[in-house]
Amino acid sequence: EVRVRFAPSPTGFLHLGGLRTALYNYIFAKKYGGSFILRLEDTDQSRLVPGAAQSIEDMLTWAGIPPDESPQRGGPVGPYLQSHRLDLYTSTAQQLIESGHAYYCFCSQRRLELLKKEALRAGQTPRYDNRCRHLQADQVQERLAQGLTHVIRFRLEEGVEPFQDMIFGWNRHEVAQVEGDPVIIKADGFPTYHLANIVDDHYMKISHVLRGSEWLISTSKHLLMYRALGWQPPTFGHLPLLMNKDGSKLSKRQGDIFIERFQRDGVLAEALLDIITNCGSGFNTNRVGRRIDELISEFNSSKITTHSALLDLDKLPEFNRIHLQQRIEDEDECNLLIKDLQGQIQTTYTEQMQDKEVLHEDYIRRVLHLRKGHISSLKELMSPVYSYLWVRPSFSSQQVAALTEEAQHIASLVLKLIEEQGEELAMERLSKDLKTLAKQTKATKYKDVMKLLRLALSGLQQGPSVVEMMVSLGPAEVSHRFQRLLL
Ligand code: GLU
Repeated sequence: EVRVRFAPSPTGFLHLGGLRTALYNYIFAKKYGGSFILRLEDTDQSRLVPGAAQSIEDMLTWAGIPPDESPQRGGPVGPYLQSHRLDLYTSTAQQLIESGHAYYCFCSQRRLELLKKEALRAGQTPRYDNRCRHLQADQVQERLAQGLTHVIRFRLEEGVEPFQDMIFGWNRHEVAQVEGDPVIIKADGFPTYHLANIVDDHYMKISHVLRGSEWLISTSKHLLMYRALGWQPPTFGHLPLLMNKDGSKLSKRQGDIFIERFQRDGVLAEALLDIITNCGSGFNTNRVGRRIDELISEFNSSKITTHSALLDLDKLPEFNRIHLQQRIEDEDECNLLIKDLQGQIQTTYTEQMQDKEVLHEDYIRRVLHLRKGHISSLKELMSPVYSYLWVRPSFSSQQVAALTEEAQHIASLVLKLIEEQGEELAMERLSKDLKTLAKQTKATKYKDVMKLLRLALSGLQQGPSVVEMMVSLGPAEVSHRFQRLLL
């Protein structure tokens, strides 16, 4: 049975890199009919960010990749929050002590700092010298009885066996040669990442660990722990990193890679999933406009390469445009967009809205179908170029009085033309009739006629084609706007 997990630390909010790791796990789970588990690794209590835990899960759900088991949903192998599983880590650490694979360490902070200083002075990488490995049982008992502050360390053995990573192939890091014995239980009784992580992967019956490639070098250490505990390790696959298009590290500090921000800015979840997979590997085909079902069906783990995925966020509006078009073309999803827009129109234009007709769903639907493929977000429709859709342009009486006779004549011709069109305006017929109309006017060129019409309709000099403007507004509203030009 395939069981994978996304195991973020709630020391920050979900960002694009995290979403990408979660997404590959989700896809892998769904491809093989397995389960996708969210586990929060909150053992570093000093670095917890309030609200992050809740937000991470909410963002996965928003993105359309909700976990099957999680802190909020629960599940058969919970709790899914490490801080609620402390007993399990303590008992596992005890088991390791009893089998001689772990030991109590009473070295003071001061001693560790001195060690570090010495190493740095000698130009070496600091590492613990494993001194407490050699304490006798009675010395340990005595110190414990005295209540001395202590940690528990894992005894790193030499002779690491190579393992085959799904993506990086054969790997082996002789950790004991480069590191001191790692702490597995801290002085506050909390486990460190390494212990908690493998204990949970074991008890949560994780079959495949798919995580960022920054963890590749830790895996040998984890495998030593599995071996010491006599547990069968999961299969590992380390995912290449997500980077900026210039190859630099995605910076969280710029604050522009957090999922909540994209959500707030009206970015569609499926556009985000599409862009973060399109820039990487692991799919049989790459095409803009893929949704989760297609990502799952096209996924092919043997195609994941070790190259970093270079993300070009400048392309995001293009992804969003294509995905927005797909949503508009789906009836149910379009209805949701309409509701969203109704809210946006009301908040943006409450003051100026002369009639509530613009909130009518048929009207908004027509607008969306005419504008799909052109706009890259719903928010765009709230920008000034589109204000003509929601409110009438205002003209002063002086402006109207200043219109030439020719302009008045054109306005009256348009009114007549609209009457002839019937209940609904059709793009093609209208555009043909407007051309004819322009010919009927004496001195003016087609271009100038259009300019005038555009002004009458929107008060602006640019925007969608005049014909489209007229079709979206509908005959009654177009008539109304032209009537105002007649003296
Ligand atoms: N808590 C680790 C992180 O924040 C999990 C790494 C792993 O998946 O093993 O990335």
